Amino acid sequence: MFLSPIAAQAARLLQELGVEQHMLSGGELAAYSPIDGTQLARLRAHTADDIAAMADRAQQAFIVWRTVPAPKRGELVRLFGNVLRAHKPALGALVTLEAGKILQEGLGEVQEMIDICDFALGLSRQLYGLTMASERPGHGLRETWHPLGPVGVITAFNFPVAVFAWNAALALACGDSVIWKPSEKTPLTALATQALFAHACKEFGDAPGGLLQLVIGGREVGQALANHSLLPLVSATGSTRMGREIAPLLAKRLARALLELGGNNGMILCPSADLDLAVRAILFAAAGTAGQRCTSLRRLFVHEAIYGNVLERLKRAYASIPVGNPLEEGTLVGPLIDRAAYQSMQAALQQAKEAGGAVHGGERVLADRYPDAYYVRPALVEMPQQTELVRHETFAPILYVMRHRDLEQAVRLHNDVPQGLASSVFTTDLREAEFFCSAAGSDCGIVNVNAGPSGAEIGGAFGGEKETGGGRESGSDAWKAYMRRITSTINYSSELPLAQGIVFSAD
Ligand code: NAD
Repeated sequence: MFLSPIAAQAARLLQELGVEQHMLSGGELAAYSPIDGTQLARLRAHTADDIAAMADRAQQAFIVWRTVPAPKRGELVRLFGNVLRAHKPALGALVTLEAGKILQEGLGEVQEMIDICDFALGLSRQLYGLTMASERPGHGLRETWHPLGPVGVITAFNFPVAVFAWNAALALACGDSVIWKPSEKTPLTALATQALFAHACKEFGDAPGGLLQLVIGGREVGQALANHSLLPLVSATGSTRMGREIAPLLAKRLARALLELGGNNGMILCPSADLDLAVRAILFAAAGTAGQRCTSLRRLFVHEAIYGNVLERLKRAYASIPVGNPLEEGTLVGPLIDRAAYQSMQAALQQAKEAGGAVHGGERVLADRYPDAYYVRPALVEMPQQTELVRHETFAPILYVMRHRDLEQAVRLHNDVPQGLASSVFTTDLREAEFFCSAAGSDCGIVNVNAGPSGAEIGGAFGGEKETGGGRESGSDAWKAYMRRITSTINYSSELPLAQGIVFSAD
């Protein structure tokens, strides 16, 4: 059978990563590469019935795993990190083939998986509780964290493996089993990741089967996961639309929801900003990953005193940014994920024009070379004001640029959107920087100074407010979402005093 060069490369990488050949053909779910639109595989999709069996298996695995000492659980995560280290070039390249991000970013995504494994290994010895002073004599009061149960993890196409690892590394160290439903647009990197995890389990020796299971399919299987009573937590990353659909399912059965949804991230440029830094940060944040990061920069508020200068610099930088095959050296912007993404970008640009916006760039390129793929020049759009269109997340490289008079006005505009994920200010004025980070400043979960809104490190808690869903993943104390807290009162006296001094005695 003839395979296109991209499909042949994917087949080689999948084999190297340990994915069995028979899983890649004969199914109903087609996997494509956004690089040239070529079909890479056809996978069998799971059904809601499969989910029920997987949940049972995950529960069995959980019952075993929860009693394994946490540092030993950390050992499995350490081994997984090492397998990822050894296969970073192959998995990074597969991310590029399947999600279309440039090779540097594909590799960066795998590095993020390795980093979170390191973090979770350390965490496995630090699942600290508290001891509190009891009000009763001869009593102790303490708080302990225990494993929660099988965790459902639903992920988006744009970070096909890193977001899974943020969840899974913590959940596994915390004593939970995991059922992962990747995006139907990126099932291959998920299969490869599962094969690498199986490799780590083999080295570990006695990990229970079913610790990590993979669900292939679209929103129906995602919904089946959300509905399953054996899963006390579902962590779901994706659009706000998805969050609105999944949250009521979880609320109905009173399960925990960890939601990481859409962003509409802004940056404010103050008159004192270091513009050399700012322009570089804007380029990476707005055009990098073809504008397909949840933290991509979409709204830029420039002080009127520097507006003309900034716009000229940005136009120059945008005109020369290399768009092309993400596997090729020198490319900085790869393709959009699919035709639907291209169409929604073009529709947004048309609406922007109708609302008085001046559009620079945004057109399709390389259509001759890649008729079935969608490459675009990143778009800069000068908007007279923040319209409804600007307040909406279009998942494409469009940067709306607006003027402001002073920081308070800029922060008001910045916060006047439904989403609350990532934000940034460029200033060398300490007062402005601190104001932006203060309670009256940015209302986002991520608030940066002299750094763009995207490209977070794993050490901090990641997530956002308002329609972004309120969830926190990755570093800091995000692990607590994957555990249940118990409060214990220990009476070591020979009396039975009651709390609040209540007397309850028949004598
Ligand atoms: P999407 O919402 O279309 O799909 C995300 C995942 O949810 C997929 O696995 C999909 O199959 C599943 N899904 C969709 N509808 C569902 C439903 N009703 N029930 C259960 N599962 C369902 O998102 P996408 O296009 O893959 O990703 C882009 C979006 O994700 C953007 O809005 C982006 O901002 C957001 N995102 C957010 C974060 C974050 O951390 N906040 C990270 C990455 C992406």
